[in-house]
Amino acid sequence: MVGGRLGVEDVKRMQREILELKKRKDAYIIAHNYQLPEIQDVADYVGDSLGMALEARKTDHPLVVVCGVHFMAETASILLPDRKVLIPDPNAGCSLASSITVEQLKEWKGRHPDAVVVSYVNTTAEVKALSDYCCTSSNAVEVVESIPEEREILFLPDMFLGMYVREKTGRKNLHVWPGECHVHAKVTTADISRAVLENPGSTLLVHPECGCSTNCLYFQAKGEIDVDIKVLSTGGMVRYVREHPQEDYVVATEVGILYRLKKELGGNGYNLKPLREDMLCEYMKMITVDKLLRSLKEEVYEVRVPREIAEKARKPIERMLEISGRR
Ligand code: SF4
Repeated sequence: MVGGRLGVEDVKRMQREILELKKRKDAYIIAHNYQLPEIQDVADYVGDSLGMALEARKTDHPLVVVCGVHFMAETASILLPDRKVLIPDPNAGCSLASSITVEQLKEWKGRHPDAVVVSYVNTTAEVKALSDYCCTSSNAVEVVESIPEEREILFLPDMFLGMYVREKTGRKNLHVWPGECHVHAKVTTADISRAVLENPGSTLLVHPECGCSTNCLYFQAKGEIDVDIKVLSTGGMVRYVREHPQEDYVVATEVGILYRLKKELGGNGYNLKPLREDMLCEYMKMITVDKLLRSLKEEVYEVRVPREIAEKARKPIERMLEISGRR
């Protein structure tokens, strides 16, 4: 697959230039699993948002380019306040992160002054700065369970993840913000049942990464779908597929993950299908190879979180890393 209007030769030439510039400027490219293949191919690291944050923190490169959506670059900048963090397109947002504003959160907190605020990592730096904990889909239950039972919790912004956590923990005092990701909004229980009927005996793989798959977790926890779902990290998916090569798989996560999986699995021989071809995050695909090249050449667009906000936002992020045991 080649991004937008560019031809294959253009992409290859730009990739070579990117690799040369990266070396010359001692830059490090961190990309999300949902990035276009040509971006994944020139990145030093490809992973989920938690992995990207951890990787950013480990690097000693003066220049870090984040190929993902804006809140991911903000997180890198919060963890690397002395480094130059770039995003190739500053308009690459996230519909889930945009579903709650600072004003809305302040008003919600005002109505529950003693509540603990747990924010999904898909939030802006300002929202994180008003939060007590950050979490990802893979550690949200653990984070909530670490909070004393009598404390009220405000969980935001992903309603499916919030309802899933409430279902799993039985916490009646967990209030959920009604936000959602436009990619998962397209997926219904009927889609999941149809995919399984059309691919009998197949296993449904879900990556607990982004808002695009949290509704699948919720449907399963509620018993609304009778399907064998494996919720696995990228590495977990690769291991599982290698150990069960004879099976067919339906992948219920943004389609970009398929390129990553196929690459990790070293080619063909595995039957991996997307749940829906249109499970695609347009924001992630805004990062194209020509924009990445320009970003490295001109050192644009720098993402800098104001110090006061960064200091407050760092605490819930550090708590998330501590609880997930991935410090
Ligand atoms: S897939 Fe959804 S949650 Fe993930 S970055 Fe795109 S809009 Fe945000």
